[in-house]
Amino acid sequence: MEKKINIAIDGYSSSGKSSLARAISKEFKMKYIDTGAMYRSITYLLLKNSIDSSNFVESEKKVDELINNCKIEYNYNFKKNISETILNGARCDEHIRKNYVSEFVSIVSKSKKVRDFMIAKQKKIASNKNVVMDGRDIGTVVICDAEIKFFIEADLHIRAKRRFDQAQDESLTIKKVIENLNFRDKEDMLRENSPLKKAKDSIVLNNTNINFEQLKNQAFNIIRKKNENHN
Ligand code: C5P
Repeated sequence: MEKKINIAIDGYSSSGKSSLARAISKEFKMKYIDTGAMYRSITYLLLKNSIDSSNFVESEKKVDELINNCKIEYNYNFKKNISETILNGARCDEHIRKNYVSEFVSIVSKSKKVRDFMIAKQKKIASNKNVVMDGRDIGTVVICDAEIKFFIEADLHIRAKRRFDQAQDESLTIKKVIENLNFRDKEDMLRENSPLKKAKDSIVLNNTNINFEQLKNQAFNIIRKKNENHN
């Protein structure tokens, strides 16, 4: 019988983690979980309830209730080629990638209450094995025992250009994208609770001067080798 492995993918904003994770999920028939979508959903929920960076206090009753009663499920639908992020029973993907969510999500993600809630959910999903999960703290906190940990890097301007080219938000400019990526990377690296950092046992893939096909091939070769040794 084939032994199942977990794969953790961490890295900077818009470094290509999600595209790589989706490709791995498809090729190796693993469950894909985009943890960024989960943090974005809770951020969207707070915004919908008039909580923004000016009044976000995790100990406030309203914030506490929203977090505690929040139900988030994530699935990637390969037939339709879309993420299905279900927030309290309704799909929310068309909202969570908008710039107003991107501007607030790293603030919300610093909250210990939010992280404890998300990490418990993510650990439970990973306990069933055969999961590829991408985010910022997957190899360091969520799946510390992942059989493979990738850390994806790419130059800020390359990341911004790729993000800008894919964005469906007409209000977006390249300057805004650079500012947002810079802001989120800093917030994610400097926070107290599960900051973005390389796990000691991670394999660094630099995506600056290669195309997606090359990145994918590098990752696939590493996974195939691991699977051969693991069975
Ligand atoms: O991956 P994505 O860019 O969609 O993530 C949005 C934000 O969610 C990140 O900038 C980060 O603040 C937060 N996040 C996190 N931990 C994760 C995944 C995402 O803090 N595991």
